[in-house]
Amino acid sequence: MKIFCVGRNYQAHAREMNAALPQQPVIFMKPETALADLSKPLAIPPFTMDLQHEIELVLRVCRDGKNIPLSEAAAYFEEWTVGIDFTARDVQRDMKAKSLPWELAKAFDGSAVLGTFLPFTPDLLPSTFSLYKNDSIAQEGNTDDMIFSFETLIAFISKYFTLQAGDLIYTGTPVGVAKVLPGDRLSGFLNQQRLFAIEMAVV
Ligand code: MG
Repeated sequence: MKIFCVGRNYQAHAREMNAALPQQPVIFMKPETALADLSKPLAIPPFTMDLQHEIELVLRVCRDGKNIPLSEAAAYFEEWTVGIDFTARDVQRDMKAKSLPWELAKAFDGSAVLGTFLPFTPDLLPSTFSLYKNDSIAQEGNTDDMIFSFETLIAFISKYFTLQAGDLIYTGTPVGVAKVLPGDRLSGFLNQQRLFAIEMAVV
């Protein structure tokens, strides 16, 4: 199983990162070991002083494909949820400054939180999704604000990588990324429905 992630897919988030709007999707990957175990509090890794949440819509690929035409891309996912692309922002800043890859900042153990999957149908668009931190809203997104649509992402990724049933695609975060602290409680919502609830471990 592969985990694809999309960077800068919402204009307001690209602006908050002082990043240029992308001409084509920004893609990176996490290994399967990045998936967080939600049955217990999540530890903040010792190598970061600035672990940040990025709430994202996540698609689950339902069939294998390569070089998928845009017109057929909708047939490659049937379920979606919300998740968190946890980012060691201080590490990422360092990597960016040195023009190095982002894996140490983005692909570490526990960096991919995944909610419960729901069926996806096109009539669900536009949809809203959000992250609550300690009962206050921290991030809110709307699918209408995506720079690259789900279909565009699937067609693009499949030019480079064979998509396989079970692969995940984190489709980018809206504005409002921020630091998490020990003891923080985070819940992810898709259209007002809570799909995950986690707690950061107190060290
Ligand atoms: Mg992200």
